[in-house]
Amino acid sequence: MSQRNEESICPVYGKCGGCQLLHMSYDKQLQWKREQVSKLLKPYGRVEKMIGMDKPEHYRCKVHAAFGRDRKGNIISGVYQTGTHRIVPVKECLLENEKADAIIGTIRGMLKSFKIKTYDEDTGYGLLRHVLIRIGYKTGQIMVVLVLSSPILPSKNNFIKALLKEHPQITTVVINVNDKRTSMVLGERQQVIYGPGFIEDELCGLKFKISPKSFYQVNPEQAEVLYNKALEYADLSGKEGVLDAYCGTGTIGMIAASKAGSVLGVELNQDAVKDAIEGAKKNKISNIRFWKADAGDFMTDMAQEGEKVDVVLMDPPRSGSSEKFLSALVKLKPQKVVYVSCNPETLARDLKYLCGKGYCMERAAAVDMFPFTDDIETVVRMQYRGREKKEKQLPYMKI
Ligand code: SAH
Repeated sequence: MSQRNEESICPVYGKCGGCQLLHMSYDKQLQWKREQVSKLLKPYGRVEKMIGMDKPEHYRCKVHAAFGRDRKGNIISGVYQTGTHRIVPVKECLLENEKADAIIGTIRGMLKSFKIKTYDEDTGYGLLRHVLIRIGYKTGQIMVVLVLSSPILPSKNNFIKALLKEHPQITTVVINVNDKRTSMVLGERQQVIYGPGFIEDELCGLKFKISPKSFYQVNPEQAEVLYNKALEYADLSGKEGVLDAYCGTGTIGMIAASKAGSVLGVELNQDAVKDAIEGAKKNKISNIRFWKADAGDFMTDMAQEGEKVDVVLMDPPRSGSSEKFLSALVKLKPQKVVYVSCNPETLARDLKYLCGKGYCMERAAAVDMFPFTDDIETVVRMQYRGREKKEKQLPYMKI
């Protein structure tokens, strides 16, 4: 495909840096991703067919736009060019939910008449820094977060009225105050100016609460596919003691709970743990407990106290798991480990460790959570076989 074609699909192709694979057809992208994972996991086994999307466009239900002005002084909104703080104006994006883009466009058009200035990172003047939109994939609920440099939004009530007139589907509006010169989008303080201050969504038949800051998969349609695959791999009988490590808001653990004896979730982020506890109550799940802790420390304590766990579900961040976690895991020796990974390189490193300590990779599949980008999500099932292959073991390395 020529550059011209890519530009006809996306006017900012090559400028925004978001869609590394736009030059490939979707089938080609899936093939490329499978090849990348297969290469890395080859020593441990075969990777099944990649699970793609029927309609791979506009899957992002969390959309963020930075606001500013161009050289001529026109108000613009869009994404930061990779590695810079230069805003590439974006009106429509192939990845983003179209309703979210329309709301951002409406806000852009309202600023002048409401005399709201966009924030200037160099001078520190101006009010509106970013707009964040979160949409419930199943529920259709919509949250608008206005990130401001100070807590006062002029003509607040009229602003909300005008915005809702254009987009009556909006269910909540939140002001987030970020008065720091930082590259973090959201600041600490928050004020709900319309609706409940959060949205809800449904995944695998359960309800989840999403606050402005909580982690929630940006592509819920494929998250459901991923979680179902993880559960298929876990193959629970209804009796097992399950550990959901790096559990975020507890999604995977809660989905597993009805098929397990009991579930323990462990997560470092306090807000996510709060959301997880509330989510379990809301979904009336009584056999799950959550702990706020470093997953490695938690596992080490469990191993020292001689606790028993049958199945470990783990979903670490891009950096993968820690050596502390893995060494405690091989002491606890769960029969099954289901590893959900957003970075096949760290997955391969962690597999090397575990396969050298008696585990075998039985199944592996990649789910395309991020079409058009080079991000790859993989899920793997490992079974404890008890034969240690010390000679093959290489030292754990930070990636
Ligand atoms: N399983 C969840 C979240 C996965 S994202 C889901 O699918 O929604 C990875 C999670 O790991 C994040 O919530 C992050 O806060 C958490 N995390 C990162 N480092 C951690 C650590 N050392 N111990 C426990 N949790 C950690």
